[in-house]
Amino acid sequence: MSDIKKVVVLGTGVLGSQIAFQSAYAGFHVTAYDVDDAALARAEERFAGLAKTYLAEVPGADEAATAAALANLSYSADLAQAVDDADLVIEAVPEILELKRTTYRKLGAVAPQKTIFATNSSTLLPSDIVDATGRPDRFLAMHFANQIWRANTAEIMGTTLTSPAVFDTVVQYAQEMGMVPIPIHKEKAGYVLNSLLVPFLGAALELAAGEYAAPEDVDKTWRIATGSPLGPFQFYDIIGMNTPYNIMAGGDADAQKLAAWLKKNYIDQGKLGIASGEGFYKYS
Ligand code: NAD
Repeated sequence: MSDIKKVVVLGTGVLGSQIAFQSAYAGFHVTAYDVDDAALARAEERFAGLAKTYLAEVPGADEAATAAALANLSYSADLAQAVDDADLVIEAVPEILELKRTTYRKLGAVAPQKTIFATNSSTLLPSDIVDATGRPDRFLAMHFANQIWRANTAEIMGTTLTSPAVFDTVVQYAQEMGMVPIPIHKEKAGYVLNSLLVPFLGAALELAAGEYAAPEDVDKTWRIATGSPLGPFQFYDIIGMNTPYNIMAGGDADAQKLAAWLKKNYIDQGKLGIASGEGFYKYS
């Protein structure tokens, strides 16, 4: 057992709400913190929606379990009060470096000495933020995937200053909250998953945009030859075109050409993936 009992999640948007609900579902007392009461009202709606999703999709979930999860959640727009006695704060505020750094400066000033801070940042390294925390030994990244109840990896990555005992505690906590912990031994942009997925998806797009092979044939090759259930263009449709577009548009000249191709042929035509009913494939 880890020593974590009281958890606070900062930011209750797409990922923060999932992290808070999953932790509460696993039996932890969780305080959901957001900037004001309107944001907390939206969080409450998200939690109610997640309770329904868990009932429909999580094996073994029943009304009693989701009601218990909702009962384990409390709400606060007062940072000092929210983190009073917290063992672990998981931060999921927007992916803006200065906003994160300001948040950690405020948090470091009010959180008890014992509190561990974990950032869910997808693209920043924990060393971009560490000096704002005031507690370099008790700070690391804990990166969840969207749809946490089924994509249940938690990639855990410290800086050179993170205490090994703190790292181990967070690995243990990840397991206790129903995740499969993935320890990462050195800082790496993209963690494990995106270090693999981003180049893989880029290579697939190169084949289609260069008119070497049709998207469905690229997918077919990957599925049959590797036994994988999904091909890269099926991933595009699940992820949606905007995130890959933004990543490639910020890359080198070749990546920018691929981004332009994706924009012209898919995004500008409203083919954004499953969410819009059509991407590389059509959905009913
Ligand atoms: P989001 O925009 O859906 O939610 C952000 C939340 O933070 C909002 O509720 C907002 O009100 C709140 N917020 C804004 N300023 C705040 C502050 N100062 N203090 C506390 N809360 C504040 O964002 P998201 O998609 O949930 O992303 C949050 C973090 O999670 C980012 O670092 C992102 O990289 C990471 N992440 C996102 C995904 C994803 O698929 N969306 C996946 C993995 C990791």
